[in-house]
Amino acid sequence: MTAEDELVGTFEQRAHVQLEHPQVGRNIGAAMDMILGVRAGVFQGADVEAMRAAGEAIRAHTVANLDGYLDTWASNAEARGTKVFFADTGGEAVEYVSRVLRDRGARLVVKGKSMASEEIGLTPALEREGMEVVETDLGEYIVQIGHEPPSHIIVPAIHHDRQEIRDLFNRVHGTDLPDEPARITRFAREHLRTKFLSADAGITGVNFAIAETGSISIVTNEGNGRMSSSMPPVHIALMGMERILPSFRELTVMLPLLTASATGQRVSTYFNVITGPRRPEDPDGPDELHVVVIDNGRSAILPTEFRSILHCIRCGACLNVCPVFRHVGGHAYGSVYGGPIGAVLTPLLQGFERAGDLPHASSLCGACTEICPVNIPLHEHLLGLRREVARVRAPWAERATFGWWSRLWANARRYRFFIGVSRMAQRPFARRGRIGRAPWPFSRWTRGRDLPGVALETFREGWRRREGGT
Ligand code: SF4
Repeated sequence: MTAEDELVGTFEQRAHVQLEHPQVGRNIGAAMDMILGVRAGVFQGADVEAMRAAGEAIRAHTVANLDGYLDTWASNAEARGTKVFFADTGGEAVEYVSRVLRDRGARLVVKGKSMASEEIGLTPALEREGMEVVETDLGEYIVQIGHEPPSHIIVPAIHHDRQEIRDLFNRVHGTDLPDEPARITRFAREHLRTKFLSADAGITGVNFAIAETGSISIVTNEGNGRMSSSMPPVHIALMGMERILPSFRELTVMLPLLTASATGQRVSTYFNVITGPRRPEDPDGPDELHVVVIDNGRSAILPTEFRSILHCIRCGACLNVCPVFRHVGGHAYGSVYGGPIGAVLTPLLQGFERAGDLPHASSLCGACTEICPVNIPLHEHLLGLRREVARVRAPWAERATFGWWSRLWANARRYRFFIGVSRMAQRPFARRGRIGRAPWPFSRWTRGRDLPGVALETFREGWRRREGGT
């Protein structure tokens, strides 16, 4: 399933499907609380605001000078033997990766976690070419054998509990595993090890690229990124074009921000820095290293008011605190990027026609903005996108209604008249200042919440009454 295939129906329709399975919300909520608790512990005593400000400054500077840093990184990477390919579109990236693998006669490909690969629909494309592609991150492996997309950018199978995962493994592998995480994990590890040992190529994502040395870095907790990148003879890394840092100095700031925000760790279990393919004196490593730098709509965001969304380091913290995400889970967003980051990024990458309803998948509580380690004003972007979508996509009748309303309220006499009429019209429906069930066309609003009634007295009327004693 590609990111495009996933955008079937509207957010509302997909959310209703998810809400029919309350277990999903319970599983996600419990896991998110656990992650947030650990995160709070790791940040205790640290000057979090200073760290966030430093992270924001680094990302803002890098994205503002993106072309220069990408050029520096690419020439340093090529000088160390890395083959660099800049893909304008997801299709170009898929075509390049397919060609490299076809030319090497690859049949079995092991894959580390990569949201960029999910974004461009790489796995299904390679499978259509007859290759076996095996996800090696445990969460990604679970959703792969369950034939579903990831539901969270850091913990892809978070919507499942251990019993569901046990049943899935037993069904797919014909085993009789208990619902003990250690036993399930050991089985997965043994199964995946045979794949690592016989793979023709490995594909991974990139957490940060470092311009000064032409390196890429990969953060994992399971060691699968290291094995996917070092055991097969060919390593292909996929990277969104914004995932670059000037030097290792900036990496020392961004790495702890990423690991603490993502999983509540001071540092991840594994952290790889890769600078070129294996040299003759190296004991191991791939003979070929390719890095595919993916634009796929990102450069169109650069000159807009939404540019800071490219500062994102994909930590997933905004998903963990989002009340909407916690209820409906990632699948409701119909894209690989769920939660607040998805509600902003997906419409910008895929267009308002396909994903213009996502900015409304938010209560605008601002929790996402408060937790973002690089201070991206997510709720302001959501509001800005709502305005943009309304300007571009709102039906004629809606635009006419709001235009008429705005003209009506721009005049004090007309406004007062409108308020008076509304007060009378609401009488059959209002109880204690709230309207629980409004008539059409407002009934869709009151299906999910109360509508505040028009106040029985305006501020001016109340003021006059006090002053005049009437
Ligand atoms: S928007 Fe901020 S909080 Fe959300 S994933 Fe990106 S960096 Fe993390």
